[in-house]
Amino acid sequence: MAQSGKVLGEQLVKPFSTLEASKREYALPVPRALIQDFGSLGYSPAHQGNLRNSIDFYTSEGTPVLAAAGGNVVRLRTTSYESGIETSYWDRGNYVELRHDDGEYTHYEHMLPNTTQLKIGDAVKEGQQIGRVGMTGFADKPHLHFQVHRYYGKLDGEILTLKARLRLFPDVYTLDLMKLGREPL
Ligand SMILES: [Zn+2]
Repeated sequence: MAQSGKVLGEQLVKPFSTLEASKREYALPVPRALIQDFGSLGYSPAHQGNLRNSIDFYTSEGTPVLAAAGGNVVRLRTTSYESGIETSYWDRGNYVELRHDDGEYTHYEHMLPNTTQLKIGDAVKEGQQIGRVGMTGFADKPHLHFQVHRYYGKLDGEILTLKARLRLFPDVYTLDLMKLGREPL
């Protein structure tokens, strides 16, 4: 039987579930003080199937997006101005995707246009600004969609998102289950 999680201030007592967890602990992809809310499980119609472990960070438009770990840029789009709540906008968002040296990738989605000078292959350091929060693509308000994933096969193949272990931040997934009134994992 699942045990109840308990939140004491920002200190979460229950240990993080290791199911589908990322190998490393990542830094927060937006400045902690600027996070207005966050959501993973059940908070977006996009967080289904292999995207189920994504996290949305709600914050103001223009908030810096920070590399959650050092890595190299493997994909990006920076010039879209399109935004909408129909799924046809799914592939219209500005994003940066980084590859890390342990084979995990981080993906930062919905950024404002023209807020990064990065190019494919560029190396970035943890905490480096890689863009600014916007709502391009399939979004109804400014937020950062953040996901950690692995690929199966080639780069364009299937992905599986992982539960991002975030340094200095409570267990998003357990807090979400509690927000939704469900038993923690
Ligand atoms: Zn999302």
